[in-house]
Amino acid sequence: MRKIYEDSYQHKGLRKQLVNVLKEKGITDENVLNAINTIPRHYFLDSAFDKIAYEDRAFPIGEGQTISQPYTVAYQTQLLQIKKNDKVLEIGTGSVYQSTILAEMGAWVYTIERQKKLFDAHKQFYFRSKYPNIKFFYGDGFEGLQTFAPFDKIIITAAAPFIPPKLIQQLKPNGLMVIPVDEGDVQRMIRIEKLADGTLDEEKFDLFSFVPMLTGKNG
Ligand code: SAH
Repeated sequence: MRKIYEDSYQHKGLRKQLVNVLKEKGITDENVLNAINTIPRHYFLDSAFDKIAYEDRAFPIGEGQTISQPYTVAYQTQLLQIKKNDKVLEIGTGSVYQSTILAEMGAWVYTIERQKKLFDAHKQFYFRSKYPNIKFFYGDGFEGLQTFAPFDKIIITAAAPFIPPKLIQQLKPNGLMVIPVDEGDVQRMIRIEKLADGTLDEEKFDLFSFVPMLTGKNG
């Protein structure tokens, strides 16, 4: 993948327009909108997508995977109610765009990727020194990260066939998990709150379309 790391006035202008589109679609969390306005999304895509990187669309990132649509990133991040210093587990590193949005908002991000090639790409991650608060792991998201648990927030960025029990275990009391769960061809966005006594409170949101969450590692 060839990338161009130059943030022109045109890119910045397109990014502002994207933020307005997200506002019109119902995103209200100012911290989310600021992060989207700050992070150059075209840095996470092949240079072939440079001109269209700020359209509200998913794009291919290799290995049959995609960078999520900005609306989806904003929607999931808003549901997570991110606060500075939250410890967040992300399943599905992909392009690292979602991880970077969380890091820009002040979270400590632990992100897992199962595709070796995508995982290895993080070694060239442009913002390595700007966001040392992102830690990368090669593994199976169904297992979570027992060593670093528990987490304040957990975000799953692939279509989950069911709610992974180990991820529930790794959530702190009063913690939130945002997960798209399969309903046939589409997924229902679900937010789970683990209450102080350990019981779960589940809220249902809109339908989305993600690439599948797959078991095991690849590569
Ligand atoms: N958050 C990413 C979205 C990438 S698409 C971004 O901002 O670009 C979803 C990613 O989840 C893919 O890279 C896919 O390889 C990964 N994935 C799917 N199942 C997984 C699993 N069980 N564990 C970890 N990663 C997984």
